[in-house]
Amino acid sequence: MRLENKVVIITGAGSGIGKETALLFAREGAKVVVADVNEKAGEETVVEIKKNGEGFFVKLDVTNREQSKQMVKTTMEKYGKIDVLINNAGIVQDALIFKMTEEQWDRVIDINLKGVFNCTQAVVEVMINQGNGVIINTSSIVGLNGNVGQVNYAATKAGLIGMTKTLAKELGRKGIRVNSVAPGFIQTPMTSSVPDKILEMMKEKTPLRRLGEPKDVANAYLYLASDEANFVNGAVLCVDGGLVI
Ligand code: NAP
Repeated sequence: MRLENKVVIITGAGSGIGKETALLFAREGAKVVVADVNEKAGEETVVEIKKNGEGFFVKLDVTNREQSKQMVKTTMEKYGKIDVLINNAGIVQDALIFKMTEEQWDRVIDINLKGVFNCTQAVVEVMINQGNGVIINTSSIVGLNGNVGQVNYAATKAGLIGMTKTLAKELGRKGIRVNSVAPGFIQTPMTSSVPDKILEMMKEKTPLRRLGEPKDVANAYLYLASDEANFVNGAVLCVDGGLVI
């Protein structure tokens, strides 16, 4: 039980990496707040959690500042503290630069970058009052290396690394650790439409010769959320099979 009695908010916990993390954290003793814009998917995650753990669903669009504040209020009313926030929700809307629309640019920036600002700002006061807390931001190796067709996504994921390092400096003295995880190619609904040919190419390029699974990232979140990472602050942990080396 590496997270016994910890209260953890996970955004985007209705699907993929976030869902896997919610189930793992519940098995490790955490009380999990499943925050997702997708009500059906989020409620399904909670049903699975409740088979051997505790948690509840909050409908949250991370772009909505009022909903972010309400999520924190509801969590405090129910559990009285917030130990961990995982800013995991994210989307892609890919296009080459000369074809990308302003709507595609704005939507990805709003969810992936401003959404993290909204949720972080909403929990920070609680964590400062507690004198402790952990924030984990989900970046990507695309934020480190770039990727063709993902100028909007890469900008957000690189931006999250800057946010993580800044917040680690601002909040460290308040007992709050802020770290980032940069996954490589992980098999989730987000990547399900990638053609087989590209998947094979990704495997060949990866020193470990396989694609990532949601549990690979969930285990990295678990380490950073746990007390085992008590002196880890401002880090970017790549979970990519060695793709970016
Ligand atoms: P996923 O399976 O698509 O899950 C993302 C979840 O976030 C979905 O439930 C989605 O709901 C929800 N969501 C979308 N917009 C939201 C909003 N405005 N507010 C709240 N929730 C929202 O994605 P994933 O692959 O698990 O990705 C999780 C994180 O890892 C993302 O930040 C992603 O950028 C990052 N990442 C993924 C990979 C990869 O290869 N999969 C690699 C590097 C980084 P809907 O389904 O209704 O949209």
